[in-house]
Amino acid sequence: MPGTFDAVLKRVAGDPARAGIADLVCLLAVEGAERQAQLFRLADAIRAREMGDAVHLRGVLEFSSYCQADCYYCGLRASNSGAKRYRLRPEAIFEQAKRGATLGLGTIVLQSGEDPWYDRNTLSRLIARIARETPLAITLSLGERSYADLQAFREAGAHRYLLKHETSDRRLYRRLRPARSLSRRLRLLSWLRRLGYQVGSGCIVGLPGQTLSSLAQDIKMLRDLDVEMVGAGPFIPHPATPLGTSEPGSVDLTLKVVAVTRLLVPSAHIAATTAMATLHPQGRELALQAGANVVMPNLTPIEYRRQYEIYPAKACLDETTEHCLGCLRGRIEDIGRTLGHGRGDSPKWHTGEVTGDAGQRRR
Ligand code: SAM
Ligand code: SF4
Repeated sequence: MPGTFDAVLKRVAGDPARAGIADLVCLLAVEGAERQAQLFRLADAIRAREMGDAVHLRGVLEFSSYCQADCYYCGLRASNSGAKRYRLRPEAIFEQAKRGATLGLGTIVLQSGEDPWYDRNTLSRLIARIARETPLAITLSLGERSYADLQAFREAGAHRYLLKHETSDRRLYRRLRPARSLSRRLRLLSWLRRLGYQVGSGCIVGLPGQTLSSLAQDIKMLRDLDVEMVGAGPFIPHPATPLGTSEPGSVDLTLKVVAVTRLLVPSAHIAATTAMATLHPQGRELALQAGANVVMPNLTPIEYRRQYEIYPAKACLDETTEHCLGCLRGRIEDIGRTLGHGRGDSPKWHTGEVTGDAGQRRR
């Protein structure tokens, strides 16, 4: 039996390793403004203690909207024949990375659909060039690739990899990601760990059929994976997908997921997602005050952004990166926080705890 909310909150924050699923469900189920605020305040205090007040910016470059996967929730799915597709050539990707560095960003996130057009050599050469010619930390978010690819990218100089497990509910996973499996996703995450990447994972909040207990399992999984980065954003339906008429995820529940994740994985970099900003005008700030410490401005050239339509009406579609950076800086300072400088690596990176085969050379 989990006990009262106050007792569970204290116990989970004091000894996250022993938190059970029932404890986490109790925290996720909490209702009422005062109790929710109590959860968010504690998560915020743990964030301040473990990560400080700096909010790190990660510039996301969405370089290809082609995808061979068919996730039921995503507008880029292969079966969406109405989706407009584009690919940036490696030279153009490099130029955008340089632009990110010039704008003062410490990290570039190279994100795409699962697009085999970018083969191992093409991407390795590009990564090596960015690593050689810019001070940027390089995060990859390319979906599922072979072990040999992941190894080559790490050796070329990539530092981090984001691969959300999406949902820890095996049945839901199978239903929403045809021809894919949760076991394969977890195997990939273990490979990333072995290769010495800083590993990011996370879930979508509010998927149709998802329960509080499966969200609690999602958070427990992030702790078991001992991730360095977390992305947990609300589900937003895209009309041209099989989930097009489903309800969006709840902002409140996503905030609770962010806060409970901070209790369980205190030293992770946790994103205040663009999906939160899309559903709520202060979505990012609310997440930053409930345990998050990272925001991800869009580095994609404006002419392509509408074609990278994971879900419709994404926040900040028409703002230049320069405008976004100014706006984000203001929003961050308005809530009493500061802008992070440098690459904003995981604290484990500095202590040498992230050490895989390739990770021995922490570049
Ligand atoms: N293709 C890569 C992958 O799936 O890992 C990276 C790009 S994918 C667009 C990035 C993330 O978008 C996914 O991990 C998923 O969680 C999120 N996403 C996709 N469709 C979404 C939706 N309708 N609402 C909220 N998040 C969504
Ligand atoms: Fe492709 Fe990623 Fe969208 Fe799935 S979530 S369809 S893998 S872009």
